[in-house]
Amino acid sequence: MGLYFSISALIIIILFTYNFLSKERVDNIETKIYKYLLFLTIFGLSMDITTCILFRVGVDINSLWYSLCSKLVFVYFVLWLLLFAYYIKCISLPSSEDYRSKMMNTFYTFALFLIFVVPFILILPVKFKLDGDIIVPNGISVFITYGVCFILILYSIYIAIRYHKNIEGKKLRPLYIFCVLMFSNFIIQSMFPSAFLINYLLSLVVVIMYFTIENPDVKLIKQLNEAKTQAEKANMAKTEFLSSMSHEIRTPLNAIVGFSNMLLEDKNLPDSAKDEVNDIVMASDNLLEIVNGILDISKIEAGKLEIINTEYDFNKVTTELIALTKGRLGDKPIELITKIDDTIPRVLYGDASRLKQICVNILTNAVKYTKEGSITFSINSVVKNDVCRLIISVEDTGIGIKQENINKLFNKFERLDLEDNVTIEGTGLGLAITKKLVDLMHGKIVVQSVYGKGSKFTVSIDQRIVKNPTIKVDAPVVKNDDIKVNNKLVLVVDDNKINLKVAERLLGTYSITAECVESGFICIDNLKSGKKYDLILMDDMMPRMSGVETLHKIKEEIPDFNIPTVALTANALTGMREKYLADGFNDYLAKPISKDELNRVINEYLNKE
Ligand code: ADP
Repeated sequence: MGLYFSISALIIIILFTYNFLSKERVDNIETKIYKYLLFLTIFGLSMDITTCILFRVGVDINSLWYSLCSKLVFVYFVLWLLLFAYYIKCISLPSSEDYRSKMMNTFYTFALFLIFVVPFILILPVKFKLDGDIIVPNGISVFITYGVCFILILYSIYIAIRYHKNIEGKKLRPLYIFCVLMFSNFIIQSMFPSAFLINYLLSLVVVIMYFTIENPDVKLIKQLNEAKTQAEKANMAKTEFLSSMSHEIRTPLNAIVGFSNMLLEDKNLPDSAKDEVNDIVMASDNLLEIVNGILDISKIEAGKLEIINTEYDFNKVTTELIALTKGRLGDKPIELITKIDDTIPRVLYGDASRLKQICVNILTNAVKYTKEGSITFSINSVVKNDVCRLIISVEDTGIGIKQENINKLFNKFERLDLEDNVTIEGTGLGLAITKKLVDLMHGKIVVQSVYGKGSKFTVSIDQRIVKNPTIKVDAPVVKNDDIKVNNKLVLVVDDNKINLKVAERLLGTYSITAECVESGFICIDNLKSGKKYDLILMDDMMPRMSGVETLHKIKEEIPDFNIPTVALTANALTGMREKYLADGFNDYLAKPISKDELNRVINEYLNKE
C-alpha cells in the first residue's frame, strides 16, 4: 500500500517539477530554493520507494544496503527541513541593501550545520526491528535525525513569528499548513505506528507552496504589477519635474515677453531696433509653445490631462482662430479661405480651449509647411438630437507629406523630411498632442496628402448643443483703446523683483498706478493699515507664505475684505483656474501675462464706470 502511495506521490511531484521548470520564472532566491525543494522531494520519495522495494524483494533490514537507503531518507528529512527553514528566512527578511549578504551568511551557517550533522546520521548505527509488518528504526542515528528535525521546525516557526510583519499573509500559509500537518502526523503515528506519512506530507507542503506562492504565472504577474507601479512612480516624478521646470522657465519668460511687448509699443523705438524686438517676441512665443507642448505631452502620458467641458461661444472660438492664423501668416503669399457653416449652434458644450488647441496646431502647421497658395479652413456640422458633430478641415497647398510618412505623423518628436524642413522651427510634438487630445475628446483625425501638392487634415469631434445657455454671447472683444481707467490703484504682490517691474510697466500702459510689494506679509500689513486698492494681483508661489495662504489669512483677519483678487502664477496647468477660484480668488492670470488676458481682467474689474 505504502509503495503505491509513494509512487503516486513521486509521479505527481515529477509532473509539478516539469511544469515549474518549463515555465518562465521570476529569477530570485526564493524561487531557486523552491526549485531545490522540488528536486529534494523527488530524491526523498525515490529513496523511500527504494527501501520499500528492497524490503519486498527480501533484502535483510539490517543489511548495509537497507540501512544506507534508510539513512539517506533520514538525511533527506534534515535537508528538506533545512531548505524549508532557509525559504522561510528568505521570505521573512526585509528587503534591504544587505539582504543578499544576510542570506549568504545564513547559507554558510546552514552548510556548516549540515557538514557537522550529516556524517553522524550516516556513520552512527541504526537498528531495524520488525513489529508485525512494521519496520521500526532504532539507534543514535534515528535519535539525532529526530532531534535535528525538531530543532529545524522550531527554528522555522521562530523566524516566522519574529518577522511576521514582513511576510505577506499568503506566504505564511504553507508554514501554517506545515505545522498542522506535522502535528497531525505526530498524533496519527502515535496512534497507528504503521502509518508512516511524513514523506507524503512533505510532498503535500511542496504542492501547497506551488499553489499559494510559487506558481510562476502568479509570481510573474506580481512582478509585472510591481514593475508597473515603479514605472508609474517614475512617470509621476517626470511629470512633477517637468511642471516645476515649466514654472521655472515661465518666470524669466514673463519678463522677456512683458518687456519686449512693451518695447514694441514704444513709439520712440527706432525702426532698426523694431525688427530685433520683434524677433525676441517671436522667439519667446516659440519657447513658450515648446514649454507648453512638453508639459502637455507629459501630462497626457501620466493620464493627468483632463478635458474640462463648459459652455462656450462657438463664434468667438472661430473668430479667434481666424485672427490668430492671419497673424501667423504675416506677409507670406498665402490666401486664407474660411468656410464656416453658419447653421452651427452658437453655444456649445465642450472643452473650448482644447478644441482651439487642436485647430491651432493644424492651422499653424499649414502656415509653416506652405510657401504659397492657399489654406482653406472649413468647419461643417452634422446635428443629431442635442449633439453637433463638428467636422473641421484644414487644407493647404504646401509641401505635402510622403505616403510612407503618414503613419509616423502622430509619433512624438518625429519630424519628417528634415532636409527640406531644416529652416522651419518645430519640435515634432504638435501632432502627437493633437492626436491625443482628439482621442481624449472621443473624436477622429484623418490626414490626406499628396507629396509636393498639399495636405488636408480633417478632425471630427462631437459637442453638445446648449438649448438654454447661461453664458453671454456677443460680448464685445475688448481692445486696449476701449479701456478707460482713471485713478485706479492696483496692489501687485510677487517675490520676484523683475516680475514686479513687468507688472508695473504693463499696468502703466493703461495709466494704472501699481503698488508693488514683495511678500504676502507686507500685503496684509498694507491692507490692515487701511489702504484702499481697486484690485490685487497676487503671485501664488512665494516663499514662507504662498498667495493662497495670504488670501486665506486676509479673509480671516479682515472680515469685510472685498477687493477683487487675481491669482498670478507661472504654474499654467489645466484646471488651475478652477483651483484658484475654489481657493477664493476672483480670477486667474498665467505667466507670461498675455495682453488679451490682462485686457480681459482689467476690463472686468477696473473698467466699471
Ligand atoms: P512640428 O511641426 O513641431 O515639427 P508636428 O507634430 O506638428 O511637429 O508635425 C510633425 C511633422 O509632420 C512635421 O515636422 C512635418 O514634417 C509634418 N507636417 C505636419 N503638418 C504638415 C503639413 N500641413 N504639411 C506638410 N507636412 C506637415
